[in-house]
Amino acid sequence: MNSIKKPVGKVESGAREGTEIKNCSGSFRIDPSEIAFDVDGVVADTFRAFIEIAFKDYGLRIHYDDINEYEFWKDTGLDENSTNDIISRILDQPLEADIRPVTGSVDVLTRLADNGNLLFVTARSDRDSILNWIWHYMPLARRDSIILVAAGRHEDKLPILLKRGMKYFVEDRLETCYLMESSPVTPIVFDQPWNRSVHPFASVNGWEELSDMIDWKKPWKTGCHEHV
Ligand SMILES: [Mg+2]
Repeated sequence: MNSIKKPVGKVESGAREGTEIKNCSGSFRIDPSEIAFDVDGVVADTFRAFIEIAFKDYGLRIHYDDINEYEFWKDTGLDENSTNDIISRILDQPLEADIRPVTGSVDVLTRLADNGNLLFVTARSDRDSILNWIWHYMPLARRDSIILVAAGRHEDKLPILLKRGMKYFVEDRLETCYLMESSPVTPIVFDQPWNRSVHPFASVNGWEELSDMIDWKKPWKTGCHEHV
């Protein structure tokens, strides 16, 4: 989510040519040691926190289901200072900003952490604030299992995933998924209102569906620690 602090260039709109969205739940099973996760929009319900703060503190009403592009904050009608205030709070103080976990995420992620390593790769540039948020909302998870890499840029996620031997990445930003197209990392789109344009990737509608794709019986490896 770093680009909301430092917008870089023009972001393409969601509309893209390609095959229809397909739901691949059940069509392949994922080794739990080979899947990693984005944070905002997948684990953290960040955009919902944004619109709640916008309403509470600035009286602006934004409907979650109407958000049709990732960088929606650029065109809400709020002035720049107010927008930056909300973004700073979300980035720097996720607990105080009352970002809550996406429904179902804590159970699945805690199970993953209890069985092996759990890797998050975020485009945020500050690691500690969001890692503390994860620890807060996953109190039962083994902390030493949790690895969080703050890539700082969306473009830097793929090299990190490759270095750590990941084969699947759950992501809500379509542009990031396209960066992984034709790479050894298979992106899995976590369904959100802003990524529902046509795309060629596997997608999941929530954490229950994602959990069904994981091969929980697979013997655990500890791959992602080896390259830290
Ligand atoms: Mg995200």
